Amino acid sequence: MLACVNHPDKNSVAICVKCGNEICIDCRTLVDEKSYCPNCAQSLVTAQTPVTSSTQPEALSQPVPLQAVPTPSVSSQPPPAQGEVTQPEMESSTGLSPNIAGLLCYLLGWLTGLIFVLIEHKNKFVRFHAFQSLIFFGALQILQIVIPIFSIFLRVARIPFIPSLISMVGWILGPIGFIFWIVGMIKAYGGEVYKFPIVGDLAEKYI
Ligand SMILES: [Zn+2]
Ligand SMILES: [Zn+2]
Repeated sequence: MLACVNHPDKNSVAICVKCGNEICIDCRTLVDEKSYCPNCAQSLVTAQTPVTSSTQPEALSQPVPLQAVPTPSVSSQPPPAQGEVTQPEMESSTGLSPNIAGLLCYLLGWLTGLIFVLIEHKNKFVRFHAFQSLIFFGALQILQIVIPIFSIFLRVARIPFIPSLISMVGWILGPIGFIFWIVGMIKAYGGEVYKFPIVGDLAEKYI
């Protein structure tokens, strides 16, 4: 079970994409569709304020002709140069940011899931997405092999109607897999512990 770093009694719903800490629904702060812990979200805001006010004090007051001043998004801000911000260890075996590694778990379906199950031993967030990818896309792959074979046997046995129905189920699996493939990568990149139906709870047990 993944627990919040600030609230051990609460389930983690995401990791902070900056420091990698597990965070609960109350601690989760969304900036540009990515999850941050309260500390990192705060440091993003405080890092932004002095930079804009100290470096360009006159630019703000001057009227801007024609060209619009690009408003810097929070994520594109450089990290604070001053101040010793001791970041918690990301604790990933691969050295990758957990949210990047989480995305990669889905890249080639169950195969990349299996790879990360084998190589990632420390980071629970990455292991969750690795197991989820392995179980979900592994099961999907097995069904895609078994269903056509099963359908052929039923046809050979001259059983009516059911083979067509099973074939239809087989056809739906492709689009379903594609949707979860995209969703899984987006959610992992955003630092979210996003559970697929049924499979998500299984994956959490294996972490
Ligand atoms: Zn953080
Ligand atoms: Zn919390």
